[in-house]
Amino acid sequence: MDDSVVWYQNMQIQRVIKNLNKNNMAGYYVKDEKELIQKVRELVPEGTMVGIGDSMTLFEAGVIDFLRKGDFEFLDKYKEGITKNEKTQIYIENFLTDTFICSTNALTEEGELYNIDGNGSRVAPIIYGPKQVILVVGINKIVKDIGEAEKRVRQYAAPIDAKRLGKNTPCVELGYCVDCKSDERICNTFVIVKRQFIKDRIKVIIVAKSLGY
Ligand code: SF4
Repeated sequence: MDDSVVWYQNMQIQRVIKNLNKNNMAGYYVKDEKELIQKVRELVPEGTMVGIGDSMTLFEAGVIDFLRKGDFEFLDKYKEGITKNEKTQIYIENFLTDTFICSTNALTEEGELYNIDGNGSRVAPIIYGPKQVILVVGINKIVKDIGEAEKRVRQYAAPIDAKRLGKNTPCVELGYCVDCKSDERICNTFVIVKRQFIKDRIKVIIVAKSLGY
């Protein structure tokens, strides 16, 4: 990558981390998947209970594989053969975990998190419950402000997610959001995290790569 592009990215990431800190959230910068796994290893003590939210980023970056092989009490919502009831049970247990790991749909330069969720099982533990929350975020998810965040998620991430999930929604036909009233609509809960009471409960690891969508 061009040195000037790397310089721009570094400056932007430093700005985000500084603003996350102002909002009582921790920020880390890693350059690739290897450094990411090292950071996760540092932050998550062995033997503790770990839950995850729905996230393609975690698959792509090798975090789920790391948790499966590691010495954790891992609540694996993706385990083969899992039943709907078992998954629902995991969603409840996620509130009691030592660590909840997922991504965010967008991260603003002001150090805010923006998420849209279907049943809320991903965003609810970000807001309350787990002792710590670790968010793994590719640089492609950094946006200027909440306005850009909403546009990114509604017009880009949500239609792609609806397609991935095989939903029968207008966006899957059209390739863009029409704010549908479909029974299969996945955009039901809009959550902005601006700040935390408990300092560094939320830890954001920014990876200097494009991850997820
Ligand atoms: S609101 Fe409906 S059309 Fe828009 S992205 Fe969500 S599911 Fe698709």
